[in-house]
Amino acid sequence: MTQQAHFPPNPSQQPMYGWALDSRKHPVPISLAGRGAQGYICPICGGPMIAKKGDVKQHHFAHEFESLPECTPENVAKKIAGTWLVLELGERMAHKKPFTLEWQMYGESHRANLLKGVTAIQEHVDIEKTEADIALMQGEKWDHVYVVFMLNLDSKRDPLAYTQFTAQSIPVISLPSESFRSGQVTLKSLLESAEVYGGWWLLEESERLPERLENDPNAIRQILGRSVVQPPYRFWGPLVNVYGQHHVLRVGANLVWLPPELWQIAVGGTRNRMSEDLTITTQEWPQKDGSIIALYYVNLRNADYAVAIRRFRSGENVQANLPAQYRMRRTTAEEVARALIAN
Ligand SMILES: [Zn+2]
Repeated sequence: MTQQAHFPPNPSQQPMYGWALDSRKHPVPISLAGRGAQGYICPICGGPMIAKKGDVKQHHFAHEFESLPECTPENVAKKIAGTWLVLELGERMAHKKPFTLEWQMYGESHRANLLKGVTAIQEHVDIEKTEADIALMQGEKWDHVYVVFMLNLDSKRDPLAYTQFTAQSIPVISLPSESFRSGQVTLKSLLESAEVYGGWWLLEESERLPERLENDPNAIRQILGRSVVQPPYRFWGPLVNVYGQHHVLRVGANLVWLPPELWQIAVGGTRNRMSEDLTITTQEWPQKDGSIIALYYVNLRNADYAVAIRRFRSGENVQANLPAQYRMRRTTAEEVARALIAN
């Protein structure tokens, strides 16, 4: 028989808590707790906790006496870490201090003040049936969600939720679960290791481009659909570098930003791997008049991109034309795009 668990457990196996309430019942991460300070409380069982900030082990809180089975470090963090972030952000908002996020997007770095115009900060906000851990709202009526934070504290992070926010033009800041749960955080360090999804919606209009670069999924769908309303019902074009911005498609007078991630959100479709170098994502949009708009996103060597669009008349067979030689010889994404809709 294996040895039964005994009480008290070996101190080295005692759970290390990253969070506790202080004597005013405010959440505190261990990084901001006083060394050896007392008066901390477990938010689950209400028992006293001590801040252990020695030189050897990772800093942590520990129950001074007994704890409940529910008093896991995960549960403690889930209960109060988000509230701490809301309180910290709220204080900055009240003092009109900026909270600047810096991130990389397609090889360029960007900055944005996450509290710009923010009038309310809320925990557990339902947005179209998906819960945001924290939402920053703009406007007098708090009616516009500017950005959401996902805390990932319960380790079952849902990538679909991120897509549901970005499809509504809401950027997602995904926080590093491990350091957040263990309380080894400051407001600054959280942002430094955050992942940013849909960050282009945070960019100022003026920081973007001299011409408007369309990045709203609904507007992109409309522009792409309009490109084939007239004969010859075909459109193709390469994604080019415009004003230092990659993945830009010119459609008539419009500039559309179409990096792979944004195509996935705005258009979607099925990825077809044609060869080692060539991937074509295909999508079909049935129209009310029975015609079908077929859209192709051509990705050559993850470096050269193009788009082709064709409207097929009602009853016409939807088919792409890809001569075999395009899988073999040296070519460009634009040539492949043109060939797809050529016949
Ligand atoms: Zn407890």
